[in-house]
Order: sequence, then C-alpha cells, then structure tokens
Amino acid sequence: MITFDAVTKRYPDGTVAVDRLSLEAPTGEITVLVGPSGCGKTTSLRMINRMIDASEGRILLDGEPVQGIDPPTLRRGIGYVIQQAGLFPHRKIVDNIATVPYLLGWDKKKARVRAMELLERVGLDPALAGRYPFQLSGGQQQRVGVARALAADPPVLLMDEPFSAVDPIVRTSLQDELLRLQAELNKTIVFVTHDIDEAIKLGDRVAVLRVGGTLAQVADPKTLLSE
Ligand code: ADP
Ligand code: ADP
Repeated sequence: MITFDAVTKRYPDGTVAVDRLSLEAPTGEITVLVGPSGCGKTTSLRMINRMIDASEGRILLDGEPVQGIDPPTLRRGIGYVIQQAGLFPHRKIVDNIATVPYLLGWDKKKARVRAMELLERVGLDPALAGRYPFQLSGGQQQRVGVARALAADPPVLLMDEPFSAVDPIVRTSLQDELLRLQAELNKTIVFVTHDIDEAIKLGDRVAVLRVGGTLAQVADPKTLLSE
C-alpha cells in the first residue's frame, strides 16, 4: 500500500505542483490520478520512486517512508511505464525487457527466459524478441514497456499516461490487457491519465486532482459514472 500523507511539492521556482495531498493506493488495486494538464499527476508519481522528493509531508510504502529508502533499492520494487515506452533503441526487444534482471545480476539465460515469458504475457508474438524497437508499432512498444516494468516482478507499478500516444483501437486493447494482467498479478498500480473515461474503466479508485495540485475527490468509478 502506498500512502500520501499531506504531501506538498514546491519546485525551486516556487511553483506548487502538489498541495497537501493525502491519498491511499491500496495493494492489489489500480488507483488512478486524473485531472487536467498541470494538476500535478506526474509530480505525484515521481515522488513515489524518488525521481523527485516531496517538499513537505511523507509518502509511505507499506508504512515505511520512501524518503528513508535509497533510490536504487526503492526502484527495485517499483516498475515504471511512461508514455513513449522509452525503450533502448540499440537493444533487441528481449534485452530491453531483461534490462532490470541484467542490472540485478541475474544469470543471462534466466533473464532471457523471463523476458520471453513476459513477451507472451503482454500479448506479443515471441518472434518479435529479436527485433529492435523501431521495427515495432507504437502499441507494440508500449506492451514491451509494460513487460520491461514487470520483469523483476515488482509489487508496485507506476504508469504515466502509458496508452495516451497510441491510436484509440490499440489503446482499448492495451487497457483490456492491463485489466487482465492485473487480475492475475495483483500489483499495487498507480495510473496517471488526463482521460476520465480511461480513469473510470481502469480505476478501482479514482483520485481527481485540480490545477494547483489539490485533491478534488477520491471516488469509486461507479459514482463518477453517475454524475
Ligand atoms: P501533470 O502531470 O498533471 O500534467 P505536472 O506534475 O507535470 O502535472 O506539473 C504540475 C505543475 O508543476 C505544473 O504547473 C508544471 O508546470 C509544474 N512543473 C512541473 N515540473 C516542474 C519543474 N521541474 N519546475 C517547475 N515547475 C514544474
Ligand atoms: P500500428 O497500427 O499498431 O501503429 P504499424 O502500422 O506501425 O502498427 O505496424 C504494423 C506491423 O508492422 C506491426 O506488426 C509491426 O511490428 C510491423 N512493423 C512496423 N514497422 C516496422 C519496421 N520498420 N520493420 C519491421 N516491421 C515493422
């Protein structure tokens, strides 16, 4: 479980990106942060894995303040998926997926076997393993991004607009795939989007943010639907 406890982020230029945010993202659920551009979604996400640090307040991971955990250790337990999958262009797909296992010093063969298994898990043809990222469609690259984030089986997955750059039909299938995966894997997922329909579809709970970085409401997606 991830807990935001009165978290504020003030950037050096004085911008308050997140303003006294208190929120819980329970284990096994998809918590969606939704709101317009600039409301502090990405900032909130990046404070969880300490790409940036909170100015005030605490973020707890299973009760332990993340500020007290050194970033490499912290990130071993947190997969991160961004909008443009951010794959390494000169590495084959299989090696992109195995990036973290390689860094963790897994046996190469074991890391590759794991990568191949994940390739299938995210709905990709194993024949793509030997290709390079530029030889894949945008949707396929995002699937590889998800596989890479899952490679070391982290309990937490942070997803920052992962499906926003792909066309609507592919996006729908990626969303369905994520729900199917989550039903199997039970990760703690924090998912950022500006798209309310996506939030309602994917979220077990939906946190609506306002520009200025304040929390407007935390809702069950069913109640959002009826408004
Ligand atoms: P969102 O992900 O909801 O679009 P962000 O978290 O990216 O929002 O940004 C929240 C606010 O913080 C915005 O006003 C943005 O301009 C500002 N901001 C983001 N990064 C920085 C930075 N490095 N320095 C100053 N202001 C920033
Ligand atoms: P999408 O409609 O998902 O964007 P594309 O039209 O980009 O898909 O690609 C369709 C298929 O062609 C995919 O299976 C992809 O792997 C393959 N493909 C795309 N670009 C290349 C390339 N440069 N080399 C080899 N195969 C490619």
